[in-house]
Amino acid sequence: MKYFSLNKRSPSVSYREAVIRGIAPDGGLYFPEDIPKFRKGFIEEIRELPPVEIGMEAMQPFVDGEIPPAVLEEILNKVLDFDFPLVALDKGISALELFHGPTMAFKDVGARFMALSLGYFSRNSDREVTVLVATSGDTGGAVAKGFLGVPGVNVVILYPDKKVSDIQERQLTTLGRNIKALRVKGTFDDCQRMVKKAFVDEALSESLQLTSANSINVARWLPQMLYYLLAYRQKPDSDRNLVFSVPSGNFGNICAGMMAQQMGLPVGHFIASTNVNDTVPRFMQTSQYEPHPSTATISNAMDVGDPSNFVRILELYGGDFSHLQQNLSSYAFTDPETRAAMTRLYQQYEYVADPHGAVGYLGLKKYMVTHPETDGIFLETAHPVKFLDVVRSTLNIEIPLPRQIREVMNREKVSIPIQAYEELRDFLMS
Ligand SMILES: *Cc1c(COP(=O)(O)O)cnc(C)c1O
Repeated sequence: MKYFSLNKRSPSVSYREAVIRGIAPDGGLYFPEDIPKFRKGFIEEIRELPPVEIGMEAMQPFVDGEIPPAVLEEILNKVLDFDFPLVALDKGISALELFHGPTMAFKDVGARFMALSLGYFSRNSDREVTVLVATSGDTGGAVAKGFLGVPGVNVVILYPDKKVSDIQERQLTTLGRNIKALRVKGTFDDCQRMVKKAFVDEALSESLQLTSANSINVARWLPQMLYYLLAYRQKPDSDRNLVFSVPSGNFGNICAGMMAQQMGLPVGHFIASTNVNDTVPRFMQTSQYEPHPSTATISNAMDVGDPSNFVRILELYGGDFSHLQQNLSSYAFTDPETRAAMTRLYQQYEYVADPHGAVGYLGLKKYMVTHPETDGIFLETAHPVKFLDVVRSTLNIEIPLPRQIREVMNREKVSIPIQAYEELRDFLMS
């Protein structure tokens, strides 16, 4: 499989090069040159297949020629070593829980797949790869854990001092080994600015092989399609329309679901549920794409004003707006609506949702007002413990700390304070 740049001014590259580069030299996102189809009979058999075999069927064409099947199988065994349960709440409403992984965020799957891909590509190289990532919270933890101990790869994480939760900070700063955390005096935007500057710093790229680990990387984006296949595998047999509601920020997760649909997964409709950062819901009304600066909300992993993966969704539908409209609805919800949904889920089903999952639930409910004959699945993208303050103040309950979180609570936080870009460069050069 070759990948082309959506800006169309850089040459097509292999999976290997797309993973190492992250973004094309012309600034475009990489996109597969063709969309493979599942083999005949795959969907009919899917309930009988183990998850790794499903992963092989879906991912093989995308890494073909670059990662041998035996290695891909090894990678998938490590990536899919936890459960993705589908929890039925009501008639036609289920939650797909994606938070049972090592950092309890759905980004674990993509981060680990990318880490193991990079580890494989650098296995015979004496040149180490440095992964540079800015995080506002969840991404950094999943990346750190995913890359921990991967030979030939160093990870440098920038996070804004005092602006991530205690649990998130511990997930970033207590691992040691090949993971280094830099605590930036400033905001997430300052972290992001420094990372971007490092990527265009020629002196740096001469001495280091630098790559990014954000969701534009094809190795983080594509494996997310497995969630939709694993959900389908668990859902009860029915003739009703299967609909996924996906809490969306950068729109990588939902775009991967749409890829699975085009490969042959029988999904009837997608719902992109957002917080008040409503660039895509507005687009679906007006067909005008007008990004806004982001607004802070309680579902902060979705505080994105200009979703980077939306261009991939447009590409999947060949720029055909009415075709896209048939397959996608998008709704935005406020923080008070989100808290009310958390309360409702708790009172009605004793289900504790995190704010992101609650936004997904709201989108599904809204769609079902006009489409009651639906088999609806909303994605629960983070464990409620990751958003403890919001859950406590909304539901007045305590949540027991899961094992993955208890493990990091007693470890010592180690991070290096920095303020200016020069300090980052000196650190990377040293
Ligand atoms: C990253 C994230 C999202 C948004 O996913 P995208 O692929 O960026 O749309 C939703 N929920 C949680 C908890 C996240 O960490």
